[in-house]
Amino acid sequence: MNNHWFQKIWAQFWARVLVDMTHHELGWLAFPSKHISLLTTRRTSILATRVQVVAGLFAVLTPLWIVVDIFIFSNDVWPSLALARVLTTIAFVAIVLAAKHVDTMRKAYLLLAMMFAVPTLFFIFTCQYLNQVPLEGLQVGVSSGYNLLPFIMLAGLSIFPLTIMESLVFAAPILLIQFGTYVVRWPMLDWPTAAASLWLLMLITSVSMLAGISQLAFIIVLVRESMNDCLTGCFARNSGEKLLEMQYIQAHRSDTPLALAFVDLDFFKQINDQHGHDAGDCALIDATKSLRSHQRTSDILVRWGGEEFVLIMPKTNSEQAKIALERICKFGFGQRPDGTPLTASIGIAERLQDNTADWRELVAMADTRMYMAKRTGRNRIIGYQSPTAPAIAAHGQVSPVLGMIQAG
Ligand code: GH3
Ligand code: MG
Ligand code: MG
Repeated sequence: MNNHWFQKIWAQFWARVLVDMTHHELGWLAFPSKHISLLTTRRTSILATRVQVVAGLFAVLTPLWIVVDIFIFSNDVWPSLALARVLTTIAFVAIVLAAKHVDTMRKAYLLLAMMFAVPTLFFIFTCQYLNQVPLEGLQVGVSSGYNLLPFIMLAGLSIFPLTIMESLVFAAPILLIQFGTYVVRWPMLDWPTAAASLWLLMLITSVSMLAGISQLAFIIVLVRESMNDCLTGCFARNSGEKLLEMQYIQAHRSDTPLALAFVDLDFFKQINDQHGHDAGDCALIDATKSLRSHQRTSDILVRWGGEEFVLIMPKTNSEQAKIALERICKFGFGQRPDGTPLTASIGIAERLQDNTADWRELVAMADTRMYMAKRTGRNRIIGYQSPTAPAIAAHGQVSPVLGMIQAG
């Protein structure tokens, strides 16, 4: 009950602050664990490029301040600061170079952690060091500039599309270290100023978090819109290819089967020709609904072309795929405008059984079998064919060896 109310308030709040998002997507703003792979891929590349730009900027700006330190501080003090700046610059350059190799979210987190760790270490060193040396006049002003680094870092969080949880994880060490520096200086601390600056740090963190999740929200909507085909709501070809590629790589790594069905609706042009394009669109939507309602939740349905669909079935061997498609055909693909059933010709391929080299070959194999289903009478499924199987099965009969079934 409590949870229900919390969810309602959460959704209402974000609906006002953010763009039109589904309930499901709002959860993605808080935690990254349920993000879909396309969102993770997009976010990984955005995080890597942003870290690269920021680290590049700091690699240029950090050594420039050495000139100011030389003018302001004595010859005993500035060399240590200059050395710290040179080492920090080298670390930033290393981050810029490392960003090129970031291709997973884990590597992006590591890069981001390095990005925050470098200025934090620089801050700890300079704070400690400048506390120990006697300062006067302008030196006091410049040294207090060093104390502003945590504020810059926390404000910098705002340029990354992070979830609430991720922002907190990256902000926490900076806040703790700032708190720690106050504890160390406790006996001579001007505590009202310290409390005010901690409060300010927390406000900056909140604003940065809000900026970060607003960016994340826009990325989620962009990914969703580029992902889906607007007529049927299935995955569009472009995102479908990326998903298939990822599934193929995953199946290859774990040595698990991956089946794919190429589904082409039969005599679809006739619907357009005889009943108009709008009737064709309705039939297409109905066929998709039917396919979706009978596919398994782990399967991925892609609109490959006009009236052609690809069903990706992870961890499914060819026999299981055939059974799943038979079930889908049994329920049908909806009706044509004249009331007769709309049927489909289907080709099935499976990664291990067909010994395919990549996802393109898997699609090509299923496509070839779909055409075979068209040539042999339509409204049927053709899967893997054993090399020793007879060339022709009796039309309309189930032939397990040929894997050819008349559906419906
Ligand atoms: P076959 O059984 O050989 O597949 O015949 P078919 O008529 O289904 O195949 P063909 O490739 O000749 O025609 C496909 C038709 O699908 C042509 C095109 O007008 C129609 N189509 C493709 N996309 C859409 C769409 O978004 N809406 C509508 N209404 N029709 C579409
Ligand atoms: Mg076609
Ligand atoms: Mg067709």
